[in-house]
Amino acid sequence: MSNRENEMRSPMGRKFIILIIVLLCTQTLLRALPEKNEFEITHFFLDIEIIPDEHRLKGEATIRLRSEINGLKSLHFYLRPSLLVRSVKDENDNPLVFSQNKVERIFPNSETSLVRVKFNQELSEREAIKIVAAYEGIFYMPSDFDPQESRYNRAFSSVTKEAAWLRPVQLWYPYIADKSMPLTIRAKVPSEWTVITNGELESTAEENAKKIFVFQEGQISSIDIFLFAASYISKSKTIGDFHITAYFFPHHRDFLDPYIEKTEEILSFYTQKFGAPDEEKFNIIEIGMGYGTGTGSPFGYGISSHLINLDFPLIPHEIAHLWWGETVSDNLGEDTWLHEGLATFSDYCYRSEKAPDKRAKREVLFGLLNKAIPIGNPKTLSVLEGGAKHAEGFLVYERAAFVVQTLKHLLGEELFLKALRSYLEAFRGKKADTAGFIQVVNSVSQKDLNWFFDYYLRGGRLPRYRVKSIDIGGKVRGTLYQENVPKHFKMPLTLEFLTNKRSFRREVEVKGSKKKFSFDLEKGENVSRVTIDPDFEVLGVGDVLEDRWEARSLRLEATEEKNFQRLEPLLFALSEKNPDNAHILHEVGQFYFAQQKWEKGIEIYQKILSFEPDDFTFIALANIAAAYELMGDKKMQRFYLEKALAKGSSMYSIVRSLMDKLEKLKDDS
Ligand SMILES: [Zn+2]
Repeated sequence: MSNRENEMRSPMGRKFIILIIVLLCTQTLLRALPEKNEFEITHFFLDIEIIPDEHRLKGEATIRLRSEINGLKSLHFYLRPSLLVRSVKDENDNPLVFSQNKVERIFPNSETSLVRVKFNQELSEREAIKIVAAYEGIFYMPSDFDPQESRYNRAFSSVTKEAAWLRPVQLWYPYIADKSMPLTIRAKVPSEWTVITNGELESTAEENAKKIFVFQEGQISSIDIFLFAASYISKSKTIGDFHITAYFFPHHRDFLDPYIEKTEEILSFYTQKFGAPDEEKFNIIEIGMGYGTGTGSPFGYGISSHLINLDFPLIPHEIAHLWWGETVSDNLGEDTWLHEGLATFSDYCYRSEKAPDKRAKREVLFGLLNKAIPIGNPKTLSVLEGGAKHAEGFLVYERAAFVVQTLKHLLGEELFLKALRSYLEAFRGKKADTAGFIQVVNSVSQKDLNWFFDYYLRGGRLPRYRVKSIDIGGKVRGTLYQENVPKHFKMPLTLEFLTNKRSFRREVEVKGSKKKFSFDLEKGENVSRVTIDPDFEVLGVGDVLEDRWEARSLRLEATEEKNFQRLEPLLFALSEKNPDNAHILHEVGQFYFAQQKWEKGIEIYQKILSFEPDDFTFIALANIAAAYELMGDKKMQRFYLEKALAKGSSMYSIVRSLMDKLEKLKDDS
């Protein structure tokens, strides 16, 4: 998750070769010459009032601008349509002619209106003007149930009685595209509320039982203005030059210390790996339940109430953006994977290294692999296209993260971290791009890894690995197959052999479609199983992922065809082969539930619970609650509903439906 949301890019229609050449030349020229700026914003002053009880936002934006051309006649900005512009005036209080019309949305999930302001006279070059736009309206998104989609809508920005969370893409202030400017924000809120927004807090004051906060920021991008406000309690800690502050609702008081402690731990983990970030503060800010997940901002991280718990979900990813996104930024589009992929990688790196044992570590990485590859390993858009076309998020998050994980495997941890640190230094405070990243990796590793990046970033297929082997004359001989790759594609892979006496590992480098191997066995030793890439180091399909897909398809078939008896041994064989895999166990649990064997299903989910910490804990608790509900055991249902909700999940709609069920139980009793 991030504050950055891609704009759609429409493909250009091309008919003739000559046209293509002309277009390419024009594009190159446009890129080479900086675009002529029509005007600069010399100061942006935003004076707002939040009226929670009415879900209302009142604003007055004072925009000082300087024309960079002769004959500047007008200005336009975007605003949420529910916020009506009341007046636009110049510095002498003369009204200016303006229009406000609803237009096609410029950001996903965000209604848009376009406000055009006509100046009373044309501005000449270097001439300055001050424009004051007053606007007001309901700024509220309900997070209610959508029967058509059968899910709860998320409130991407809202003023509720409990809190206000105002995100730039929801156009809560006059948004003028592609500008950078000094900013002052003055925000009036109920007296017990606190405001957190961009910049430094300059002053606070009381006025008619309201509180006023004034913030100043030297320079900010016009798309980066966030504001959070609520009746917060807070706690801060300074470590060296770094400040951590947590702002929570009063009932989450007990979480302040653990969150600060965890943030400190994660910061130090990343700093040791990657070096120091540019940023010197990180705020964690609770926002309303209706937002459903978390959002990054230049000054910290907003997190929905139901995700504040002692598993600290989302936090490792968001802290990683201090490095990937803040210290090094990128141009979005094709390069989105650089900050989202690296942040997701950092998150999984942290979680897998902190996992209490090998099993938990494997489960963390399998969870990532499972999200990186859709069922059946179909051809997809490439990672770069995924970023550019605003396609399925998994391409720039989980798949890109696993590309980075695979790079780590290829280079070895030491060289890999050296490359990441060099990338951070090369682009510190600047915008990086994919070519720049590859160049740094090639230069640090003294290797040409273009074959690797071409395949994993520009291709839509992923390798599929299989192994065939037999024991002959005191040796295990076999072939490792690598499908869906070009001839020159080579990958070192670990094979784990399980025998009647021991388990041992060997490295095999496979180039192109296959590689034969032969390893000595001890006397009387027989290989019962060979696992490819047992630690999930390589982005590709191996046995475990295939077993998980097979388990799913068996369970779905059983649910549909009711041929439980025939499929049971097949499903159980997969589960026995992968006894610690929560994903496969989940299918077994569902298999029992489909037969209304509630107790047996509950037993399976209890086993998943014993794997803690695990991504599946919430799902297991929710499933146990559902089983008790169907068994008619309200007491146990309530017990597990409460446990599931305490655990929390970013699966917002499921969380909300569990809350409804719990409310209903409370009403009944
Ligand atoms: Zn992110």
